[in-house]
Amino acid sequence: MPVDKDQPSSWVKYKPSLCRTCIGTCCTMPVEVKVHDLIRLELTTEDEVEAGVGKLVSRLKKQGIIKSYRANTGLFLLTDRPNGDCLYLDSRSRLCQVYDLRPDVCRRFPETLSLRPGYCPAIARTLR
Ligand code: SF4
Repeated sequence: MPVDKDQPSSWVKYKPSLCRTCIGTCCTMPVEVKVHDLIRLELTTEDEVEAGVGKLVSRLKKQGIIKSYRANTGLFLLTDRPNGDCLYLDSRSRLCQVYDLRPDVCRRFPETLSLRPGYCPAIARTLR
């Protein structure tokens, strides 16, 4: 069965070597981040957050960085590109452009923060 990122039952058992040849499938899935991720990404500051999340949300939406914010979970949904790629995924290399600053969800995928922990929607570049 081919891997389908929307069908976790089709995902393969994760091993780090998969990332070397993958097109970055995980970076084509919705990316929800917390305020501390935005601070690490240098998209805001603690002072701006303290001044009010509402203003921050509206600035980040205007700048096209986030699509939405859910106050009940404190999660910001990053904007994706028209093809579904994460804002920070380089379309040619298929590598993250902010790797050292990447959000926690990216650091913990797929071991813990995943629809199917321990499994991955890896698609090799040659199979694309
Ligand atoms: S921030 Fe980087 S690692 Fe996370 S989804 Fe975007 S491109 Fe991928």
